[in-house]
Parts: sequence; C-alpha cells; structure tokens
Amino acid sequence: MASQAHYSMTINGQAESGMATIAVINPATGGKIGEAPDCTAQQLDRAVASARQAFPLWRAAPPDERGAAMKAAAAILVENAEPLLRLLTSEQGKPHHEARREILGAAHWLNAFADLAIPVEINEATAERRSETRHVPIGVVAGISPWNFPVLLSFWKIAPCLKAGNTMILKPSPFTPLTMLRIGELLRDAFPAGVLNIITGGDALGPMLTVHPGINKVSFTGSTTTGKRVMESAAKDLKRVTLELGGNDAAIVLPDVDVDAVAKALFWAAFRNSGQICVASKRLYVHADIYDRFAQAFADYAGTIRMGNGAEQGTELGPVQNSLQFERVLTIIEDSKAQGHRFLTGGDARPVGPGYFIPVTIVDNPPEDSRVVQEEPFGPIVPLLKYDSVDEVIHRANASPYGLAGSVWSADTSAALAVAGRLETGTVWINEVQYLSPFQAFAGHKQSGLGVENGLGGLLEYTVPQTITVRAPVTACAL
Ligand code: NAD
Repeated sequence: MASQAHYSMTINGQAESGMATIAVINPATGGKIGEAPDCTAQQLDRAVASARQAFPLWRAAPPDERGAAMKAAAAILVENAEPLLRLLTSEQGKPHHEARREILGAAHWLNAFADLAIPVEINEATAERRSETRHVPIGVVAGISPWNFPVLLSFWKIAPCLKAGNTMILKPSPFTPLTMLRIGELLRDAFPAGVLNIITGGDALGPMLTVHPGINKVSFTGSTTTGKRVMESAAKDLKRVTLELGGNDAAIVLPDVDVDAVAKALFWAAFRNSGQICVASKRLYVHADIYDRFAQAFADYAGTIRMGNGAEQGTELGPVQNSLQFERVLTIIEDSKAQGHRFLTGGDARPVGPGYFIPVTIVDNPPEDSRVVQEEPFGPIVPLLKYDSVDEVIHRANASPYGLAGSVWSADTSAALAVAGRLETGTVWINEVQYLSPFQAFAGHKQSGLGVENGLGGLLEYTVPQTITVRAPVTACAL
C-alpha cells in the first residue's frame, strides 16, 4: 500500500505534529486515507499565545496591507486547486466538480473581503464637538467549522476575521481535517506567524477552545445542539459569538410553475452534496393541483442521477460523509418505513456495499408531524408535501424551531414575493436556492443561529464599536 501523506498543524507559522492522531476515512470506500494531529492542551495554549502575540501588529497594519496578504493567499488556493480538490473529495465525498467550486469559492471569499472596507460612522460634527464610531478588532477568534463544506465555511470565517484585524485559530471538523491542514501548510508564509493557526483534534478540542480564556470570540458553524453548548461555554467570560446552525428549509411551489423545470431545480436544491447542506430544501411543499405531475417529474429526474465515488468521472452525488450521519439518516428512513410512508424512490433502510451510500429517497406526502418532516435529516432524503392554500402552507413552513432559509417558486414574482415576506427565515430565495455571496448577509432566525455572516454585517461581527468624541481643548478661560 502507498504510504500516506503527512499532515501537520500550523501554530505560530510552524509545523506541529500531534502526540496522537485521529484517523480520517474516505466515505466512498470506508478506507483510511490519512491521519490528523490530535492537538494537546499545551499546543492549544501555544496557538493562543501566538495569536495573542501577533494581534497588535496585525491590527496596526493598514487594512489594504491585510487585504493584499489575503489576495496573495487566494492566489495560492487557486494555484493549488487541483490537488486540494482531490484531497477534499477523498475526505468529504463530494464529486470533484463540487470540490473545485468549494476551493475556488474560498479564494473568492478571500478576494471579496480583501476589498471590503469598514466605514467610520460620524455621529456629530459641530463647532463644539466631533463624535465618531469606529469598529475595532476584537482580538483572538476561534473559528469552528463543520464537515459538509470544510473549506468554504472555514473561509467564511477566516476572510472577515483577518480583514477586520483579528487573528484566528481555526479548527475544522475531525471528520474532514485534512484539506484545511494542507491549506494551513500552503499559507504558512502568506501571513505573519500567529495570524492564522490551524489546529485539529478529536471531540475534546472544540470545548477546550470555547472555554480558553485567551480567546475573545467564537465563530461557530454546526448543529443547533452544539451551538447551544458553544454559547453556554462562551458565556463564562462573555466571549462574543456568531452561530450558524441547523435548518429545515421549506420550498413552496405555487401552482403556476413549469413543473418539469422546477422539479429538476428542486431536485438539486434538496440533494446537492447528498442533502448535506444547511440550506438544502428539506421540506418541499407542492400545491395540490400539480402535486401528482410534480411528484412524477421529480422521481423521474431522480432516476437519471448517478451516485458514486466522487473521484470517478460522471459522479453527480457522493456518499454521506460519516458513519454517524449515515446511521442517523437510516433511522429516519426506518421510521418512515415503520410509519407506513410511501416512497417515490429509495427507502432502502440498509444499503449494501462499502462506503456510506444511501440511495436518493423521496417520501410521498408523509404526515406533517413525522420525523422526516420535523427533523433535519442532513442526508439524501426529502419529503414531498401537498398543500391547498397559501395561508396553510405559510403556517406549516413557519411551524419550525428553525429559521435559516426558504424558497418560493412561481411564474408570478409578485405572488412569490407576497409569500416570501411572510416566511420567518433569514434568507428567502425566489425561483432559485442557495445563492450565497460574500456581499450578502446570511443569518439564521430562531434556533438557526445568532448574528450574521457575510456582507458588511458579517465583517462587523469581527469588530466591537468604539466611540470617540473630541471637544476643543479645555482652557483656563473656558473653566
Ligand atoms: P457539529 O455541531 O457536530 O460540529 C461542528 C463543529 O463543532 C465540528 O468542528 C466539531 O468538532 C465541533 N464541536 C463539536 N462539539 C463541540 C463543542 N462542545 N464545543 C465546540 N465545538 C464543538 O455539526 P456537523 O455535524 O459537523 O455539521 C452539520 C450541522 O451543521 C447541520 O445541523 C447543519 O445544518 C449545520 N450547518 C449550518 C450551516 C449554517 O451556515 N447555518 C452551515 C453548514 C452546516
């Protein structure tokens, strides 16, 4: 067997191995592809100390200089896109073309935030006084990212954090640590030592980071359950937090749509990345007048899709990323079976063969209170749901503890806008989904998150306001 590549953490601009390692599995084969260092408490202390030491100089650098370093880093990602995307596919499972989009997306985020400026607010400018509010960096930020988009979602944090003048310790998920470790190695000279540290470890490392007294802010993307733990532990010394959490997005299809075209678009809305997207369409509400035609078109299109190893040409959908998630999705399928739900396709509760493959599964109009409707499966399974009136479907869509995003589909954009305005979510797309941009705010309502990523609001999350007022010097005669 070929020897596996070595991956090191980046702490204070230096390579660091672990005393122990965690194994990384290719979800398409079940085989081990490498090992990531398991960061010790002492190594974490060193990473925090280096980030604290780097902070004053990095903060003092002109924003354009920080932006230039970020653009140089983006160029390194683009130059190395090919090996990085292969590594990403091997640990995450997504097809190569999706992995390429992710790597290039990370470079795009760096370039976009490199040029984004933070305005100074002038509150008062009179003969007597000038008052202005600046937005100054917070200090050392811990970035914690999930396994579904290990690179892109890490750079959603790295880019605004560094542009605002903070330093960072980034921890990817233990299921997908390798591509971010490799990126840390590639970017070692792109920033001054200590500005960007990349560390990896098992389940203990996240909590160690969030309680560490040397960290001033935690920017977390992951499940709602973990997000609550992060907030609880950050509360001890009032660390700032940004939380991007789970979702159960509704897609509402009005009766006037082009059924075949929307069925195809919604297939990808639900199943891209094998359904492992926070803003995947997870409940598809289709008007009763077109439900049967839509269900047929949706199932027919699903039958044309090729699932397989993301490294093989022609693969459109990869496996579920890890064994825990695989088991979780299977329990939801088993529950649907036990409840007697009808499947338009899929429904194999125990797929056979190596790798964590679950065939595309579409559940035909299950009851609203079933697990597949109420929970976020985060895998290749979606319920199609029939509705009769707009008021009814809005009520059903909003009856969720989540409020991440949603979509409305119609030939009549005014009718779609009227529905969109009544949805309780941070983003609503009309006739598209998952359009995300570094220039556009992305924020979860309700239990889908706290704070905002992207756009000027996302950049400001990495700052604290500082108001300075200036009066003319006090003189003896004024006293
Ligand atoms: P997760 O919550 O299990 O893990 C996310 C990260 O947190 C990982 O790096 C993990 O190691 C770390 N972690 C685990 N326990 C921790 C703790 N106690 N303290 C600190 N860190 C800890 O999530 P996941 O399974 O990796 O990702 C899937 C979830 O993420 C889904 O619910 C999905 O909707 C959500 N997600 C949300 C967004 C968004 O932007 N809103 C984007 C992608 C994924």
